[in-house]
Amino acid sequence: MKKYRHIFFDLDGTLWDFQKNAEEALTELFSIHDLHVLGIESPSIFIDVYKKKNEVLWKKYRNGTVDKMKLRTQRFEHTLGHFGITNEELVFKLDRDYIKISPMKTNLIDYAVEILTYLNKKYTLHIITNGFQEVQFSKLLANHLLQYFKQVITSEKAGIQKPDKKIFEYSVSKARAEFDESIYIGDSWEVDIMGAKNAGMDQVYFNPEKKKNIIDATYEISSLRELEKLF
Ligand SMILES: [Mg+2]
Repeated sequence: MKKYRHIFFDLDGTLWDFQKNAEEALTELFSIHDLHVLGIESPSIFIDVYKKKNEVLWKKYRNGTVDKMKLRTQRFEHTLGHFGITNEELVFKLDRDYIKISPMKTNLIDYAVEILTYLNKKYTLHIITNGFQEVQFSKLLANHLLQYFKQVITSEKAGIQKPDKKIFEYSVSKARAEFDESIYIGDSWEVDIMGAKNAGMDQVYFNPEKKKNIIDATYEISSLRELEKLF
């Protein structure tokens, strides 16, 4: 194996269990704001609709057709709209509470802390994450993860989103690293692996669901534990 010195991690879905944490936060919102009274049958129906609307808006945010504020409010506006609810005040409260509750959630991907402890002894670790500065740092703090990373690059601060190769170039330079001694670990084929590949950086595809892909990543794992064998 090539001699790596710097390991760059994705955060959501790779270390921080985005799926589980978002579901818990949305379930809390459902009960805090009595959404069943407004005719939404169950938290799971609310969550399903929210996920779809959120994903559409994140894609638009990535290609620059909506801004941060619009993304944040419209994901709830569109979710409520799906159920025929128009309520500006409720949209405001859902956004406010989601941003407050979700980053405090502490479900991590299995073996995240163990592997960071292990890798941190031999490599310099960094984060490159698509997300808002305040939100991503809250997650790292609430989960005591900040201590493992030298550089934490958020797309908001960098002004560039993955998969744009510029964010990888920016991050490698910020970390005072070189591409040929750096590797990127992420769970999204489209955003992480293609992004790093285009930037000329080796990649580890974290693929717990073992999805099929046409092109191979440099390495592929289905559990973080496997990193111990790789590094
Ligand atoms: Mg991810």
